[in-house]
Amino acid sequence: MLSYLRLMAINLQHYRQLIQECKEKQATLVAVSKIKPPADIQALYDAGQRDFGENYVQELVEKQAQLPGDINWHFIGHLQSNKVKLLVPFVHLVHGVDSLKLLKEISKQAIKINRRVNCLLQVFIARETTKFGMDEMDLKAVVEAVQADPEAFKGVRIRGMMGMASNTSDQDQVRQEFRQLVEWSKKYLPVISSVTDRQEKKEQPLLSFGMSGDYQIALEEGSNMIRVGSLLFGARNYAR
Ligand SMILES: *Cc1c(COP(=O)(O)O)cnc(C)c1O
Repeated sequence: MLSYLRLMAINLQHYRQLIQECKEKQATLVAVSKIKPPADIQALYDAGQRDFGENYVQELVEKQAQLPGDINWHFIGHLQSNKVKLLVPFVHLVHGVDSLKLLKEISKQAIKINRRVNCLLQVFIARETTKFGMDEMDLKAVVEAVQADPEAFKGVRIRGMMGMASNTSDQDQVRQEFRQLVEWSKKYLPVISSVTDRQEKKEQPLLSFGMSGDYQIALEEGSNMIRVGSLLFGARNYAR
């Protein structure tokens, strides 16, 4: 009976639909599994999913140790500098780099273990005060910092940008906010990645935006990486 309930904990119908929509747009689906048990992740893995996103460092470290080694682990939460070294050895992509200080710390820890960590700059696009991210001044400061001291950023590759739109039913507003991200990505990423990616082949920037409630708008606006949790795993119960 328990295994039956477990099987029902992931929504395979939504999964297949999301995979199809992502395929059409050549986007990556990151399955956001925060708070959900490893068995749910395993079930989606068995259905073919390999990219999973987590918000809490300790939880991610524990899950990574228990689950298959070929999972791409995305860190999508707010990262504190003192937790960076726990992630750096295995993380596939850090989405939430929201300060220059954090970017430098990731680079420093990565250099120590001879790794280059893929990062996205989290930009603040929402008309809310509760979300993290850089504004245009912060982005300019990143540009200046990487140009002034490229060596300090040898441990990171800045692959793109990540953002979260306002939690609103106003679709036009969500669309405008996503457009802001795309605009900043065109304006700032080429100059930043010309420094941090200097020897590597040029790849399309990763644009990580869109969640369960707004991923369709996101894909229309040029997202190539959506982060979807509740549509796949059901609503989250934080009071566990
Ligand atoms: C939780 C979370 C998601 C997934 O949210 P859903 O609405 O459940 O799809 C995506 N991105 C971030 C940064 C999150 O914290």
